[in-house]
Amino acid sequence: MGTHSEQNAASHITRIMKEPFTAYVTIFPCNDCTNNLLAYRSFSRLVFKSFYDEREIEGPLERFFQRGVKVCRLNLSPERLIDIVFNEPDAKITVWDSEQRERIKGYLDKTIFSQPTH
Ligand SMILES: [Zn+2]
Repeated sequence: MGTHSEQNAASHITRIMKEPFTAYVTIFPCNDCTNNLLAYRSFSRLVFKSFYDEREIEGPLERFFQRGVKVCRLNLSPERLIDIVFNEPDAKITVWDSEQRERIKGYLDKTIFSQPTH
């Protein structure tokens, strides 16, 4: 059993904890990783690529929304994802900076899990 991606990412974000940040993960977080991410008050957005099991997202999704965390699915073809990972060296880190965030904005599928308006 490996380290869940969110735990790994969280161990790298202490230096930016004071500013709102986006976590980019390949698989939608499990319950434990949801807890770990929500422990950071400045956690403001989750971008994920796919699910392990769609039946397991309801609880974490509800808690993200309760905290006002925006949840987006990254809509990338496997070919484009491989291109980013291998040809954009900085993309290998899990938390991307604002420039990289802008670059991938066009790939975000906001229609799947847009944050409910209050
Ligand atoms: Zn996990």
